[in-house]
Amino acid sequence: MGNCEHILVAADPPPLTPGGCQECLEHGTKWVHLRKCLECGHIGCCDSSPGKHATAHYEETGHPVIRSFEPGEDWRWCYVDERLGQLTS
Ligand SMILES: [Zn+2]
Ligand SMILES: [Zn+2]
Ligand SMILES: [Zn+2]
Repeated sequence: MGNCEHILVAADPPPLTPGGCQECLEHGTKWVHLRKCLECGHIGCCDSSPGKHATAHYEETGHPVIRSFEPGEDWRWCYVDERLGQLTS
């Protein structure tokens, strides 16, 4: 546990689709948990969801850091370093 440079420099852009996973909303599929891309604000679903759209978004764009988009959760995850981090406020 600890913050890598990607996590440290990541911004926190507003969500593009505050109502849920962008791809699931388009295709009418269901998600379990939501993740937000800290590069562009894309909302995708977690790896427990059938679509795994947060990971798919990383593989497509290379945007390295996501954070939880669940209420009360603020952990961040870096795909490049496979590291869980958190910003201390
Ligand atoms: Zn990193
Ligand atoms: Zn999805
Ligand atoms: Zn992105």
